[in-house]
Amino acid sequence: MIQFDQVEKKYPDGTQAVQQLDLIIKKGEFFVLIGPSGCGKTTTLKMINRLIPISDGTLRIDGKKISEFDIHELRWNIGYVLQQIALFPHMTIAENIAVVPEMRKWNRSKISRRVDELLEMVGLDPSVYRNRKPSELSGGQQQRIGVIRALAADPEVILMDEPFSALDPISREKLQDDLLELQRKIQKTIVFVTHDMKEAIKLGDRLCVMKDGKVVQIGTPEEIIEHPANDFVKSFIGSHDRIEGRKVKEVAVQFPIGLKEGRTISAGAPISEALQLLAETDVLIIEENGQLIGSVTRETIIQFLAGEVRA
Ligand code: ADP
Repeated sequence: MIQFDQVEKKYPDGTQAVQQLDLIIKKGEFFVLIGPSGCGKTTTLKMINRLIPISDGTLRIDGKKISEFDIHELRWNIGYVLQQIALFPHMTIAENIAVVPEMRKWNRSKISRRVDELLEMVGLDPSVYRNRKPSELSGGQQQRIGVIRALAADPEVILMDEPFSALDPISREKLQDDLLELQRKIQKTIVFVTHDMKEAIKLGDRLCVMKDGKVVQIGTPEEIIEHPANDFVKSFIGSHDRIEGRKVKEVAVQFPIGLKEGRTISAGAPISEALQLLAETDVLIIEENGQLIGSVTRETIIQFLAGEVRA
């Protein structure tokens, strides 16, 4: 668990980047910091691994103040992925992935197994990619290496600062899908910075919307879309008006095989009603004129909304 208590950051030139920040990021959670440029997202992220020192307040990881950690231990235990692909150009892919395990003095065979395991995890054949140089990979593949490099020594926490924003839209969507898939397997605490609401809604278990160095709203994607705290959040997500009046039928997916019973909802019901019911049940069966025409889950709605909000 990562806990910010009244954390402040004032840069030496007097810029107050973050103010009175209170945040609890739960273990295993995919937590997204979102907001316009300059609102303090990167500063917040970098305070976690002490790349930026805090000016006031306390920041704890699993109950221990970050100032009390040995700096190397702290950095090694926190994976970090940046927007700019920061692979070492003269080293092979395997050597790039092995940087932190090497520093931790893992033995050769353990490192080698780990490298292969990670490459396979993101669908890159080790026999093909191990010995390549970063320049021999596409931008999307390089960024995939950036992600697994951050996972190499099995850290509990991974910080990601706009990791996909330099990629073309197709690679970006693919990497988002891969990351979700990966997170289902590894269940790490991920703190992810983006200014793209669509990305935030797609990836986050919870989002923290920031403005001018302060938290404006924290909640699940549904909570934020359904109940934006103020006009700033409303305009930032830009989607609220669009769910209004939309019907469950528009988000219907195929009837799941084997599903025999469950709560039903009428095809003409508003999406917001389905969202409320889905707080209590995993799937709703859509009924139209006495026939069961499909089903809807929380994921279906989130995907629909992610496709609707402006990029
Ligand atoms: P974001 O990641 O949301 O774009 P940042 O955390 O990078 O925002 O920046 C927050 C504020 O702090 C901005 O006003 C930015 O100009 C300022 N800032 C960032 N880094 C520094 C620095 N090293 N010195 C002074 N001001 C900075």
